[in-house]
Amino acid sequence: MLPLDPQADPGRRAWADCPNCDDAQGCEPCAQRRNCSDHWRYLLTNTGSLLHLQCPGCTHVYDHETGFGATRSLWSRMRNALPGS
Ligand SMILES: [Zn+2]
Ligand SMILES: [Zn+2]
Repeated sequence: MLPLDPQADPGRRAWADCPNCDDAQGCEPCAQRRNCSDHWRYLLTNTGSLLHLQCPGCTHVYDHETGFGATRSLWSRMRNALPGS
């Protein structure tokens, strides 16, 4: 197992399925995409909408694309395109 990343902070969490251990399988809040108190990942860093995560269960490090940042930049592009702004 990898050591926990020094940037791993329980105060910064993200909810995304771990591709390595599948620990959230059969969990009801996770299946409903709610913020489960048992299954969450350390949010190490993020680049726009791409989250760099570490699973606290198996310490697997992986990237998760949320698409949120793309939406946000699309919105700011649209706002910038408005006349008079
Ligand atoms: Zn895991
Ligand atoms: Zn869960």
